[in-house]
Amino acid sequence: MVAVPHLTPDSMLEALKQAGLKRTPQRMAIVRELATDASHPTAQDLFERLRGAFPTMSFATVYNTLDALTKIGLVRPLRLGGALRFDPNAKPHHHAVCDRCGTVIDLPIPSPSPTSPSVRKTIEETFHFEVHTEERTYRGLCGRCI
Ligand SMILES: [Zn+2]
Ligand SMILES: [Zn+2]
Repeated sequence: MVAVPHLTPDSMLEALKQAGLKRTPQRMAIVRELATDASHPTAQDLFERLRGAFPTMSFATVYNTLDALTKIGLVRPLRLGGALRFDPNAKPHHHAVCDRCGTVIDLPIPSPSPTSPSVRKTIEETFHFEVHTEERTYRGLCGRCI
């Protein structure tokens, strides 16, 4: 299976700059850590990982940086099983979630989308909801938990 491409740290940092956010060493470390992490970490995960390198960094700095990246569309907040995780892959894609250990795997969406036009039409007419993208969550056990 082809892996879903993630943003590179450089493209994220460039976008941060264009959004008018200064490149502080802490912010750059947060971006690097997130961009190279396909596990969809929570803000707390990132904070704990980076605290060793930046003892003065606050949780708010991590959270605010993630919030800024979310606002400019570079990462997506993802609520899976109660925890708010951050996804460095802003393109639509499906997720496979392990019910035992919580591992989240990105799955590329086959193109064209498997949702038939008639399903979309039903959603639009019955729920008055305009469909833009489609994302599914598959639940089960990951390779380590089987
Ligand atoms: Zn697992
Ligand atoms: Zn994802």
